[in-house]
Amino acid sequence: MNALVPFLHRTRIAYFSMEIALRPEIHTYSGGLGVLAGDTARSAADLDLPMVFVTLLSREGYIRQEIGVQENQINKPNPWRPEEWASPLPAMIAVSIEGRSVWVRPWLYLLTCPVGNVVPVLLLDTDLEQNSAEDRQITDRLYGGDDAHRLKQEIVLGIGGSLLLRALGFRIQTYHLNEGHAALLALQLLRETHRPGGLGSPSVYDRPSVRERCVFTTHTPVEAGFDRFDYGLVSRLLGDFFDLAELKTLAGEDRLNMTRLALNLSGYVNGVARRHAETASGLFPGYQIRSITNGVHVQTWVHSELARRLEARFPQWAHEPEVIALADQIPDDEIWAAHQAAKVQLLGTIRERTGTELQLDLPLIGFARRMTSYKRPNLLFTDLARLKQIARDRPFQVVLAGLAHPLDDPGKQIIEELHRHIRALQDAIPIVFLPEYDMTLARMLVSGADIWLNTPLPPLEASGTSGMKAALNGVLNLSVMDGWWVEACVEGVTGWGIQGTPPGAGDAEALYRKLEDVVLPLYQDRARWIWMMKQSISKIGPTFNSHRMMRRYATEAYMR
Ligand SMILES: *Cc1c(COP(=O)(O)O)cnc(C)c1O
Repeated sequence: MNALVPFLHRTRIAYFSMEIALRPEIHTYSGGLGVLAGDTARSAADLDLPMVFVTLLSREGYIRQEIGVQENQINKPNPWRPEEWASPLPAMIAVSIEGRSVWVRPWLYLLTCPVGNVVPVLLLDTDLEQNSAEDRQITDRLYGGDDAHRLKQEIVLGIGGSLLLRALGFRIQTYHLNEGHAALLALQLLRETHRPGGLGSPSVYDRPSVRERCVFTTHTPVEAGFDRFDYGLVSRLLGDFFDLAELKTLAGEDRLNMTRLALNLSGYVNGVARRHAETASGLFPGYQIRSITNGVHVQTWVHSELARRLEARFPQWAHEPEVIALADQIPDDEIWAAHQAAKVQLLGTIRERTGTELQLDLPLIGFARRMTSYKRPNLLFTDLARLKQIARDRPFQVVLAGLAHPLDDPGKQIIEELHRHIRALQDAIPIVFLPEYDMTLARMLVSGADIWLNTPLPPLEASGTSGMKAALNGVLNLSVMDGWWVEACVEGVTGWGIQGTPPGAGDAEALYRKLEDVVLPLYQDRARWIWMMKQSISKIGPTFNSHRMMRRYATEAYMR
């Protein structure tokens, strides 16, 4: 327990997230949500914020993606070794699930930033001999299993996490719920305010005091992104943990909607970009939804070749990303050399993993997203003849990557379709699909591509953060006007927007036009291209970083 002592007195804020990308070897994340949580923790450490992070241990990871002979996604387990990175704390609490006591033990990972500040991360584990074989598996696989399994995970995270913090001696003033997965935490806090009725006075719960302590960030306007559980299941797992009639007034009459529960019990609700806050306000009328736009951790995502050059001029750049505004002063040849080095590295990885030799002097379009319908990974391939025509005049190459959620059948189909397109175009356009999109690959892609393509169906992209990573590396965004890009796009300066008429249906045509008339021709104009790279770095970097994001959370949400 000694390892926790330095944190117990100072820590005031607890951040709860089902997933968190702490480092590539720790497979406790699936994608953007986890990477954001990781960048949040890295900036919290850099800024010495009094925070603790709570997540699940997820020993089996999320999935390791293989592409089968049928060009289909095969989901392999992706285990990691907790004992190499974290240490189990000699403490346990029990949560009640189906009337059984399920024991939960935290592992401690110390996230240390380059200047030496540390934030603690607690990874919750139910793989204990005190538990039944079934319960030992609750924290095995991130987002694995059926609804019952998922609800058990959320009980361990929200209820277990909050009990553990108390048992360990933390005195938390503010709880940050990263997405609805952690909403049971707020319910646990509400339960603790309960005053039983009697002598004519009704029983009461003190909602305002919970709302004072809870901050909720919602991450998607896509319905499928909201966890919903049948009340039958809730009653079976949670028993009389909470008065059902009262719960329904907070979480919805038909089913327990975790987003609604979090909305009703949080005094500060945040969307992840301005556009997303507007969309979410429409979806949930009556709630005030603010917008602290996401950001990325600059030291994690800027390629070492560029980082070295920034460091030489602005030694404080990683702590004060505002100075990246001056990156346009770096000479052209240095910017270009840094980018080419990153591209060489990416091309090497592509060669190793696929056997395909891409060319350094041809523009490389990167597209890496979760493979799911609304992200429209297929949009570029809407009209193959047209795409070939464009490539005949202005040759380019494409690198694709992304995982489909194991239960997302349309998403898995998209991966198969992409492979068919790759084959259909093989004599005309070099295109590769890199399996196993993770932090390591993301770093190579967002620095080594030339153009970062983003084609979600508006308004469904809440924020998007890979485009911020690309922008910081001088990789130019070509994106539908949605999410964060609405705030960052200066047409022909920081990148380009894709705006179809009508919006949505006309996007493919708008994309082809922009590629053909603007983007690919400009690649031939090296000086102008580098000028745009510098505009992208110096105009986007100072704002869309996680230090700015955390400074805003600290002053506007945590210190309310
Ligand atoms: C940054 C990142 C994401 C999120 O990217 P989006 O732009 O939101 O799609 C997902 N996965 C990994 C591995 C990342 O590094």
